[in-house]
Amino acid sequence: MRNNFKRLAALSPMLAAAGLAGAALLTPAGPAHSQSLGDMMGAAKKVAQAATVSDEQIVAYFGQMSDEMDRQNPLAPAKSPYAVRLAKLTQGLNTYDGLNLDIQAYLVDDVNAFAMGDGTVRVYSGLMDKMTDDEVRCVIGHEIGHVKLEHGQKRMKRALQQDAALSVAGTASGGVRRLANSELGGLLQNVMYAQHSQAAETQSDDYALNFMAANGYDQQGCPSAMDKLAAMGGGGGIALLQTHPNPATRAKRMRKQIK
Ligand SMILES: [Zn+2]
Repeated sequence: MRNNFKRLAALSPMLAAAGLAGAALLTPAGPAHSQSLGDMMGAAKKVAQAATVSDEQIVAYFGQMSDEMDRQNPLAPAKSPYAVRLAKLTQGLNTYDGLNLDIQAYLVDDVNAFAMGDGTVRVYSGLMDKMTDDEVRCVIGHEIGHVKLEHGQKRMKRALQQDAALSVAGTASGGVRRLANSELGGLLQNVMYAQHSQAAETQSDDYALNFMAANGYDQQGCPSAMDKLAAMGGGGGIALLQTHPNPATRAKRMRKQIK
C-alpha cells in the first residue's frame, strides 16, 4: 500500500492542479456567468464523482490519516510502561469483527482514544493514567464500534463530497494518490475531531458492551469509565468529554443494559 502511494505521488502535482481548479469553481467568489459552459460541466462532473466515492479511496484515506496521526503524535516505544501495559490488556486481541487491529499508545497527556477504518487504534497515555484495564478496553471497544458501524465512513463521504479537491484525488489512473499534509489536516478536522450524533454514540456504547462480553472482559468497565469521565467534567481540555455526550447519562444507560 505504501509503495503504491509513493508511485502515485508522482502524479500528485497534476492532480492537485485539477483539484484546485475544481475547488475554485465551487467557491461562490466570482459571478456565475463568467464561467464557461465547459467549466460548469467540469464542476458538475466532479460533484458526481464525489457522490460515488470508492471503498478503495476511503480505506486508503483512513490509512493516510492513521499515518498522519502517528507523525503528529509520539508512539510509545515498545519498552515504555504504556506500551507494555496496553499490549498486556489487549493480549490476543489481534482481530475483532473483521478488523486487523494495530493497537498502540501515544505518549500524549490527553484523555483520548480513536480507531480508524484501517484497524488502527490509538490510546493516549493521559487516558491510561486515569483508567483501569477494563475501562481502557471499553473505550477501545467503543472506538472500534464507530469504525464497524461506519460512523467515520459517513463523515468521510460527507467531507469528500464537500471538497472537490479530495474527491478528484481518487479518480485518475484508477488509483488513489497520496494526499498532501494540508489536505489531510482538513480531512482529520472533518472526520476525526467532529462530533458523532447522539444516536451513533448510543450504538457505539452498545457495541462496546458486546465487545467486552465477547472478549471475556468485565462489562462494568464501561459504566465505570463513564463515571471517571463524569468526575473529570467541568474543566476544559478533556478530549473525550468535548466530543461525547454526558457521561453520567451514558453510565446510567449502560448499567441498565448490563442487567
Ligand atoms: Zn464515541
